[in-house]
Amino acid sequence: MRSDLQKYRETIPAVADAVQLKETFWLNGRQRTGGHKEIQEVNPEQIQDASQRLLRFAPYLKTVFPELEKTGGIIESELRAIPAMQAWLEQTYGSKIEGRLMLKMDSDLPVSGSVKARGGIYEVLKHAEDLALEAGMLKLSDDYSILAGKEFQEFFGRYTIQVGSTGNLGMSIGIMSAKLGFCVIVHMSADAKQWKKDLLRSRGVKVIEYADDYCAAVEEGRKNSDADPMSYFVDDENSQALFMGYSVAGERLRTQLEQQQIPVDEDHPLFLYIPCGIGGAPGGITYGVKQIFGDHVHCFFTEPTHACCMMLGMATGLHDRVSVKDFGIDGRTDADGLAVGRPSAFVGRVVEPVLSGIATIRDERLYDLMRGLLHEEHIFIEPSSCAAFAALIQGEVMKKYIESRGLNDKMGQATHIAWATGGSMVPEEMKKIYRETGL
Ligand SMILES: *Cc1c(COP(=O)(O)O)cnc(C)c1O
Repeated sequence: MRSDLQKYRETIPAVADAVQLKETFWLNGRQRTGGHKEIQEVNPEQIQDASQRLLRFAPYLKTVFPELEKTGGIIESELRAIPAMQAWLEQTYGSKIEGRLMLKMDSDLPVSGSVKARGGIYEVLKHAEDLALEAGMLKLSDDYSILAGKEFQEFFGRYTIQVGSTGNLGMSIGIMSAKLGFCVIVHMSADAKQWKKDLLRSRGVKVIEYADDYCAAVEEGRKNSDADPMSYFVDDENSQALFMGYSVAGERLRTQLEQQQIPVDEDHPLFLYIPCGIGGAPGGITYGVKQIFGDHVHCFFTEPTHACCMMLGMATGLHDRVSVKDFGIDGRTDADGLAVGRPSAFVGRVVEPVLSGIATIRDERLYDLMRGLLHEEHIFIEPSSCAAFAALIQGEVMKKYIESRGLNDKMGQATHIAWATGGSMVPEEMKKIYRETGL
């Protein structure tokens, strides 16, 4: 462990736990009432801009992905109550979950089967739009289904898109870019699963494999892309476009809650639990929901014990200036979607005034939770996704949080949403292996 970090281990209990690879639950002491109004780095107009852009692309997406026919080209997932899972969690882990537990099923998002179908696809669409507008081939008022035409395929074919990924981001960027006609190169870290590489190659994506971790794959990808003037790099460590793509989830969630007549207000608190890798997805979603529900929504991130980079970055205030390795933590986890050793350069700072806390979870529990959900609700989500339940099984800390916010007598009317971030594209034989894995 880096010697200058020793003081954090001595003064912050969650950091001490993390260094020993113990599960922990850090509560954010810098969270402030009305904190969402203090955020400077991004603004609510950017959410509207992203939302409008996705609407412009809907006719195109509907044309090229038949599975989007029924939603008119909108990529969205179901929000579903999971009462049997709620009872199972209470029984198995002995912590009462007051209120209603729901699952946000981004695990089933169309096109690429993970939360990355929000941010990743959005950034590719934005880049395509920028290029086509600049070339004078497209106007904002056009019906974007023309983008499926041959002349656009040829046009985009002159350009390259590159990205570094542990798997799911590469899937979203790869599938969307290839569909538009771009050349696309995905730089995959050692954690990436073989089937994801195979699937991408089958769609014409160039996959370059690295023996090293995620940061190394990103580094190489960026270098490769910078050397080519026709290449665009999707930068997961810094990208605002990705972040804004994720943030549109806020207004979508509001609509779904309204449709199911679930109120969110002073007497009906909403709790979100979102698995975190580098932070873009949970950060963007948090930013989006905070702009809508303000202090009535309580957002928690969840991470594997071996890759708890956001917790370490936020608890120490050092953000991207520390990695898990600096604390002597190896960064190796079965939760491939979360296998990130250093947090985003900007997400931790953006969410600092609004995030409630971060819970960590051991890999072996992910498989137990995966089987629990499958058995109780007949829903499959990938192990990374199961981290969403990390905070719900650490009842003592949750109780402390609820008390500190004066929510004790409101919890009966609370809604908890575990954000399932991936799963539907996992091949059958992998599901079988996951079902049988006991760590
Ligand atoms: C990428 C991913 C996340 C987290 O997103 P980040 O932007 O890396 O924080 C969560 N779950 C799954 C399954 C993912 O693929």
